[in-house]
Amino acid sequence: MVGVNRQPLIAGNWKMNLDHLQAVAFVQKLDWSLKDAKHDAGTVEVAVFPPFTDLRTVQILLDQDKIEFALGAQDLSTHDSGAYTGEISGAFLKKLNASYVIIGHSERRDYHAETDEVVAAKVQAALKHGLVPVICVGETLEQREQSGPTAVSVGQLEVALEGVAAGAEIVVAYEPVWAIGTGQVASPEQAQEVCAALRAVVADKLGQDAADRTRILYGGSVKSGNIASFMREPDVDGALVGGASLLVDEFAAIIRYQKHVGV
Ligand code: PEP
Repeated sequence: MVGVNRQPLIAGNWKMNLDHLQAVAFVQKLDWSLKDAKHDAGTVEVAVFPPFTDLRTVQILLDQDKIEFALGAQDLSTHDSGAYTGEISGAFLKKLNASYVIIGHSERRDYHAETDEVVAAKVQAALKHGLVPVICVGETLEQREQSGPTAVSVGQLEVALEGVAAGAEIVVAYEPVWAIGTGQVASPEQAQEVCAALRAVVADKLGQDAADRTRILYGGSVKSGNIASFMREPDVDGALVGGASLLVDEFAAIIRYQKHVGV
């Protein structure tokens, strides 16, 4: 069960999928599917994280059709503006009414050599521009075997929260690298263990109030068939969903997890 004051968050990370035309069709279908099922939008916050080139189109669609999904980006620059070819400023994302930005996804850490220090600088950039950072942490299988289930994620979050104010709004996503896109999902107990340790880091760095209100997500091969088991855990407040967020019916079923038996 999600903590009493924390609204569950189901976030769809599209990665490098769906161009801006496909994005329109997808968002409309998802909205229709949820409305057809009489989904109560107030029960769960839904956020979509399209590629940069889709953001303006999706922003206009959400606005015009009064669709209650939050908008997020998949990354941002550590800089505000200037000679940084290919980079995107948090200020630009804010102008597009983006609420969230994913920071430190394992694919950025792996393929773009993003260190914990870069992740921390991006967290600062997001907060400076009024964006809520979705801070991703997680261990590889090798790291889990070497240092246990929590050490890597705890260490990554400690660095990411350096200099963050106690009142800042952040979201944390525990994404074990071995579970991302592999179909090898963590057990609810494994997710709970790490999410609880991450909440303790938030308490230590930002105080108990922040720990009580901060949403901590699980990510890694989440599907409609397993979401409910994660959401039963006390420290799991939602999910960051990759592959399954690209399938309208599947993502709608994940969003509607409260309708699944036993939650
Ligand atoms: C992700 O990339 O954030 C993710 C969790 O992917 P998947 O759901 O496909 O494992």
